[in-house]
Amino acid sequence: MRLVVDEPAFGTAPHPPFRRLSPHANAQVLNRVHAASEASVLLDDVIRQQYWQGVTLVSSFGADSAVLLHMIAQIDRATPVLFLETGMLFPETLAYQHELALRLGLTDVRLIRPDPDDLANEDPDGRLHAENTDGCCFIRKTLPLRRALEPFGAWITGRKRAQAATRAGLELFEEDRENGLLKVNPLAYWDSAMVRAYMSEHALPTHPLVARGYPSIGCMPCTTPVRPGEDPRAGRWRDSGKVECGIHFDGKKWVHKPVALGVVGSFP
Ligand code: SF4
Repeated sequence: MRLVVDEPAFGTAPHPPFRRLSPHANAQVLNRVHAASEASVLLDDVIRQQYWQGVTLVSSFGADSAVLLHMIAQIDRATPVLFLETGMLFPETLAYQHELALRLGLTDVRLIRPDPDDLANEDPDGRLHAENTDGCCFIRKTLPLRRALEPFGAWITGRKRAQAATRAGLELFEEDRENGLLKVNPLAYWDSAMVRAYMSEHALPTHPLVARGYPSIGCMPCTTPVRPGEDPRAGRWRDSGKVECGIHFDGKKWVHKPVALGVVGSFP
């Protein structure tokens, strides 16, 4: 899908001709270039230079999302923001999304919804999450995101090493092999104290569920509050063994392979 031409000829120029490089090579170069960069500096470079035929931020409008949304609003309010509206979100998240986008002046927030045919075929009563969380995430998150990412060459995420043991090796830039894109994680080295400090400094509103014990907020049926001392993501798919929804890799493999669904297909 994306340009994959050659491996990097690492030069001394700070910005090699990234469009000629594969996502893997891009990630290698940029992890060097931005090893010591502030998140906002890294983002400014990624958004303004437009190396990859377009960059988008994928945001859950969750507990920490205001940080990146605020940063991109300072750089370019027209930066596309993809919001996966699964149809299963907390009403508080929908209200927060509206409030935050308005306050920050974001002009291109795209609500990405599941395909109605997929829902009609695979989850007609909205109960798939109770029987097959992987299949539910596949039709409500993975497939819609895959379609929404098609016009872009790179996407920005809010993932952090400190969120969970499965993210401990996260880099600032990585290859998204499933979609053939570059993936950018500007907050990879941030912790919750840094997030809180940034939000306080910029007077950003907090997601209303944070005060009720939800440091990580996903869909309503699959998110519970977290107890003191637990991983921030411990309340996601609690006690199920599932740790990711399928839109992110853990290192070089799927964290939890989705079960194939008859109509919409499956992963290789
Ligand atoms: S998090 Fe739960 S409700 Fe949301 S898409 Fe995944 S399984 Fe379905």
